[in-house]
Amino acid sequence: MSFAELGLSDKVQQAVAAAGYTEPTPIQAQAIPHVLARRDVLGIAQTGTGKTAAFTLPMLTLLETGRARARMPRTLILEPTRELAAQVEDNFEKYGINHRLSVALLIGGVSFGDQDAKITRGVDVLIATPGRLLDHFERGKLLLTGVELLVIDEADRMLDMGFIPDIERIVKLVPFTRQTLFFSATMPPEIQRLADAFLHNPVKVEV
Ligand code: AMP
Repeated sequence: MSFAELGLSDKVQQAVAAAGYTEPTPIQAQAIPHVLARRDVLGIAQTGTGKTAAFTLPMLTLLETGRARARMPRTLILEPTRELAAQVEDNFEKYGINHRLSVALLIGGVSFGDQDAKITRGVDVLIATPGRLLDHFERGKLLLTGVELLVIDEADRMLDMGFIPDIERIVKLVPFTRQTLFFSATMPPEIQRLADAFLHNPVKVEV
């Protein structure tokens, strides 16, 4: 399997080549065509498998059509920690070099002002930790009714950190008709229950 066969846009393929990647990792080869086909995906994969590119590359391709509206992010990625959220932002910068997309990071320890200004202008990709996202939502400056695609990453770590009630609240705030990508390194019963609740007829990808 080559990157050219996955259905990614030319812009994304150029960025992948610039990053020096010669072939997709197994999670990328299995997940990317389904994400591009707008299927829900349950991905069982650890960090280090190329999991981040498995969702960022097809998201960049999908975001090439349409545009961001004020206060209504088009896509939302939930991460358990600031560090992971910042890494995902770095991935969008690296793979989105040929795109003009607006990416915002909502994490603790960063002032609300700059984040608010970006959201008000409109963002294509919002990357957040759950608590901080809800803080913004409660301040009334953010609408989640335009979210076309939701990523719940590191679900088992979310569970360990006590974030499941926050995630359940957030999922109720995004449209039912969204596309959902759900990643976890392990699938204990509580995580399986969430996957069943959040995903619609998902493709299961395990590496
Ligand atoms: P991740 O599992 O998303 O944390 O990615 C682990 C590392 O693999 C990152 O440093 C990526 O830059 C790198 N990587 C992702 N996809 C590929 C690929 N197809 N070929 C080579 N390296 C990759």
